[in-house]
Formats: sequence, structure tokens, C-alpha cells
Amino acid sequence: MSLAGNLGATPAAPPIAFTNCAVMAMAPAAESGHQPHAHARRREVVVNGKRVKTIDVHAHCCVPRAMALINHPLEAPGLLMDDTSTRIAAMDAQGIDVEALSINPYWYKVERDVAAELIRVQNETLVEFCAANPDRFVAFATAALQHPELAAEQVEHAVKRLGFRGVGVGGSVAGEELANPRFHPFWAKCEELGVLVFMHPLGTRELEGSGRLGGSGLLTNTIGNPLETTIALSHLIFEGTLDRFPGLKICAAHGGGFLPSYANRSDAVIRTFPNRVGPLPKKQPTAYLKDGQLFFDTIVFTPEALRHLIAESGPGQIMIGTDYPFPWTSTEIDLVLGTPGLSDDQRVAILGGTAAKLLGIK
Ligand SMILES: [Zn+2]
Repeated sequence: MSLAGNLGATPAAPPIAFTNCAVMAMAPAAESGHQPHAHARRREVVVNGKRVKTIDVHAHCCVPRAMALINHPLEAPGLLMDDTSTRIAAMDAQGIDVEALSINPYWYKVERDVAAELIRVQNETLVEFCAANPDRFVAFATAALQHPELAAEQVEHAVKRLGFRGVGVGGSVAGEELANPRFHPFWAKCEELGVLVFMHPLGTRELEGSGRLGGSGLLTNTIGNPLETTIALSHLIFEGTLDRFPGLKICAAHGGGFLPSYANRSDAVIRTFPNRVGPLPKKQPTAYLKDGQLFFDTIVFTPEALRHLIAESGPGQIMIGTDYPFPWTSTEIDLVLGTPGLSDDQRVAILGGTAAKLLGIK
């Protein structure tokens, strides 16, 4: 998707300065090793004269040794972490200091014993990825949600023994809604441990058989992914999951899908069809976007879209996402710097401050 058509919306002179720092360019070739993608410049983001540690909460990777347990294929070579020079070069060019790595769930139909082993291998390997470059990577743990009690144990182990501060989930679990009471033990554990949950859609497979998402435009992804996020968040609100676990913190990918663009319809249905809503959520549905339980990444493409997302949720609910290695965007820093109406402190929070707090990054 081209960003070129959106540039007109960018203010001519955002009131923020940033610099490109030639730190890496100073390193002699011999010291920078034999990396085929050795890069020259690391963009260092500065707001009001102060260096900001930028954190990307939406960055994908994979663990081949875990995938091999169920013969799951590699979806994109860029997901691999065996040679991170290309990834780090992209981060440096984009001004991303830290990636919070996640893995899109592919294991939600796997039986319990295999799922336990797969998650063990996967989480332990994620720890190794991060330990190899502790300044550049943290990770969301993985969990086998199809076995909710096991998933709760996996999160507890990941946090208490392996040092994770977040966990990733899909937008549904093998066709079941995250709001299904079956998953309450998992949410209870996430709340108890205070981990950030990164929710990434797996698409709306239910619509694919009908062919409605076929044809041109990769609609299974283009609208199927944000649609699943919209459905998942709406159920978490209307089914009372967010009321039951008030300490839960969920970051929804792709700016929360379509929900923040049309959230007031969810308030309106309570007035319009009161006999079709109930038991009522404790708050107006739009309030859940603002009250500290829901967070959203910045993958909404234009300053106007990000301005609106912030208007619906609040600057404290937004964190950078890049979707690396999938090239949906490479300009999230400029997006945040170019979004109108933000104070310096709010920009710093979006660029990395909020993620640092939630993920325990110094
Ligand atoms: Zn993604």
C-alpha cells in the first residue's frame, strides 16, 4: 500500500527535531565484521533536545525448531533470527531502538503434549534471541490458548522463570472468541502477573470459504485482519471480559482494527436496541478504549488517522508498531512526529515511553 498519496496530510514543519547519527559509520569495516548488510547510519530520534528510546511493539519473528514440531512452514525469510543484521539495519534506518518480538499463533489446533513442548522450545528460544541483542530486542511470550489452564501455567513460567513481561495472543483461538469464559483462567493469570497482552489477528477464516474475501486486494489480510481485531475487542467489551478483569492490559494490532473508527456505534446500539444488549457492560463501550485496559499500535498510515485514533483512545494508549518484516510501513517515527496536536511528552510516550513502562524496558 503506497503512502505517497497521504503525504499531503503531513504538516510541513512538525515542531520536533530528529537527527541521524553516524555512530555506525565511525566503525572501521574490520570491526563491523563481515555482515553482508552492514549499515552506515542509525537514526536517533530526539524530541525537544532529548534522545528518545523508541520501541516497536508489533514486530514478527519465528522459531524454526518449534515450527518443525508440527511441520509448520516458514512464511517469510525475514522472520528468521539467525542473522539479525538485516533486521537491525532496518530498525536503525527507521529509528527503531527496540523491537518487542512476537510470533503469530500457528499452534492453536495442536493437542496438549505437543503444544506444551512447542511453547517450551519457542519461549526458551525467544529468550536466547533477546539475550543475543539485549539492547535491541525484547519479546512477547507465546502460549497454547486452546488449553487455557496450560496457557496460564505457560505465562506464569514465562514471566517468573524466563523474564518475559508480555504475552502474545491471536484474535481468536481455532474459531473460539477470546471472550469465551473458557479463557478466563488465562486472562486471570495475565491480570495477576501484570503482563501486557499483544493481540494480533489471524484473519477471518470463517469468511474465506464463502469467497467474499477472494479476488484482488488480498482482502483476507487487508480487511480480514482488522475485522478480526474489531470482532475480538467488541466481544471482550460486550461479553464483560474487560469488566471481569479490570487490570488486564491488551494492545491490539493495526490500530485496533476498525473499532476506533466507528466506536460510537457500539454506544448507540445500547440505546437503539436495548433489548439486544445484556448484561450491559459496566461502562459505555467507547470508554473501554480510553480507560487504560486497551492499547493500540500506530499502524494506521496517516497523521489524520493516528490523530483520530488518539482522539478516541488517548495518547497514553498508543505505541509504535511496524509489522516487520512485512513492509506495510517503514515510517512510523515520522508518523508520530507528524501527527498534529500532541505535546512533546505525549510524543515521547507514543514513541517508546508507554511501551517501556509496560514491558519493563529501561
Ligand atoms: Zn503483524
